[in-house]
Amino acid sequence: MHAFDTHEVRNTVAPFEDVNLYAADPALQEALLREGGGADAESLHALGARLGRAEVLDLARLANLHPPRLHNFDRNGKRIDEVEFHPAWHGLMTLLIENGAHASPWRGGAGAQVARAARYLLFGQVENGSQCPVTMTYACVPALKQAPKIAAKWLPKILSAEYDPRSLPIEQKRGAIVGMGMTEKQGGSDVRANTTLAEPVPLSEARDLFGDDGEDVFRIVGHKWFFSAPQSDAHLILAQTGDAGLSCFFLPRYLPDGARNQIRVQRLKDKLGNRSNASAEVEFTGAYGWLVGKQGRGIPTILEMGGHTRLDCVLGSAGAMRAALTQALHHARRRVAFGRPLAEQPLMQNVLADLALESEAATAYAMRLARCFDQSDDPAQALLARILTPAGKYWICKRGPAFGAEAMEVVGGSGYVEDGPLARLYRELPVNSIWEGSGNVMCLDLLRALGKSPAARDALAAELMLACKADAFYIAYKSTLLADLAEPQTDEFGARVLAERIVLAVQAALLLQHAPDYVSSAFVASRLKREPGGAFGRLPAGVDCAAILARALIEE
Ligand SMILES: Cc1cc2nc3c(=O)[nH]c(=O)nc-3n(C[C@H](O)[C@H](O)[C@H](O)COP(=O)(O)OP(=O)(O)OC[C@H]3O[C@@H](n4cnc5c(N)ncnc54)[C@H](O)[C@@H]3O)c2cc1C
Repeated sequence: MHAFDTHEVRNTVAPFEDVNLYAADPALQEALLREGGGADAESLHALGARLGRAEVLDLARLANLHPPRLHNFDRNGKRIDEVEFHPAWHGLMTLLIENGAHASPWRGGAGAQVARAARYLLFGQVENGSQCPVTMTYACVPALKQAPKIAAKWLPKILSAEYDPRSLPIEQKRGAIVGMGMTEKQGGSDVRANTTLAEPVPLSEARDLFGDDGEDVFRIVGHKWFFSAPQSDAHLILAQTGDAGLSCFFLPRYLPDGARNQIRVQRLKDKLGNRSNASAEVEFTGAYGWLVGKQGRGIPTILEMGGHTRLDCVLGSAGAMRAALTQALHHARRRVAFGRPLAEQPLMQNVLADLALESEAATAYAMRLARCFDQSDDPAQALLARILTPAGKYWICKRGPAFGAEAMEVVGGSGYVEDGPLARLYRELPVNSIWEGSGNVMCLDLLRALGKSPAARDALAAELMLACKADAFYIAYKSTLLADLAEPQTDEFGARVLAERIVLAVQAALLLQHAPDYVSSAFVASRLKREPGGAFGRLPAGVDCAAILARALIEE
């Protein structure tokens, strides 16, 4: 022992790093193949190895330890509104964009949404703040296609695999990212309460200002209370256009004449988590915006984006839960208490296996949902997505914070301190439930989707029928759910329970068809037979925890 040491440090656990995050996860590998993303299996294997490297995981720590800083003015007092990021942030953004997390499905290819979903789920195990601008960029593409002229100019830069953080007009950039701004102080969920105003600029004036780009130009005055990634090259926003109501606008950071657009960044939010990501409050002091879609159709236009951002919330929560699980399981396999590793103690096995089931079910659901997006030309798949997106965004994101807390507790006091990633993960998990439509709003959206199209129920029924030959209890659960859905769904008071039942039924159906029996039977026994909810670690007797845990994390 060294002269200064008072004790020997032992029974501690080396960090979970220099691991292949993809190879460690059989459930994700299987989901990729069955949902149609198999062509990317090799590249995902390589990505899993890269993302699991100690130096990449450390980028996440650094990017959150050194959050972005807003500089409103330069040294001479000129207004600049630039955000300064730590190099670790740029490292993460480069990784995400080089690997197509912001755009790969729009470049085409069978199973491209599913393959991207798997990549996004892996990134979710590394760092979550950087996923925000990447998601918004990915999701803006379908909406932007409603403005063909803007799309023609911008899409090549958005689809580029090069991360270019320079603050420059689009013509000079090698790659671009796009954000969105809907939420105002007086109303976020209820965007109809938006007060930001857009006035049309007369064509002759707009042509004088912007030449060929002078069509459909509006001058915008107002604010946004949340405006993430203000460093983006453009944002899609909502603003009121007189009697027509809300319309969607494309606000570039730089105008076609090279001047900065009038987007004033007031301050950056001081947030619970997602600290690496800059989320701003902004004012538009006569900013120029280009109309996207038709006047008065702002909500449906921007919802083209919302469907995809909500998919990412599901994937992001599945990824963050997986990260928390791997930390917990890696630790519990090695930490000895009362003479045995924690992972061999019956009560801890119950907790860990319960977490593993939740994580596998979330992964299976998220990847199935991604296939709906790949097959959105098929009306049945589009309808299924219309139900599974809000239901999954509600239930899977809602499970996140409780999951993160439990995984942190597995690591004990060390889980609660900032030296490891669990405290950060815990702070990240609530946000997916809040942004892009909070939990209640998602449940109300589910009711709307069911009410609008009775065929949506049929699409769900067809999906649940695929597991028809399985467990009798599942069949009864499914039948009751479908019988209830045959009635009009207008019960706002009970909408959370309905969303939860739908997700649990779909997760059970997927696991019964595709997971080992010891996984699916334990899921049915703990989620369908028992009243769900409460703490993790409530699995009934007879569950094969050892088998579940062996599958949950493959460590060399
Ligand atoms: C880190 C972060 C980044 C963000 N970035 C962006 C961004 O880039 N762009 C952007 O536009 N927004 C952004 N947001 C804002 C976010 O989308 C909103 O906060 C969210 O949509 C909720 O709106 P709100 O805050 O106005 O809450 P409210 O709309 O006031 O809702 C408060 C609560 O009431 C519930 N509720 C609302 N209506 C009903 C109802 N009819 N029945 C029952 N319950 C109801 C909601 O579910 C919610 O729980 C961000 C938020 C965060 C936390």
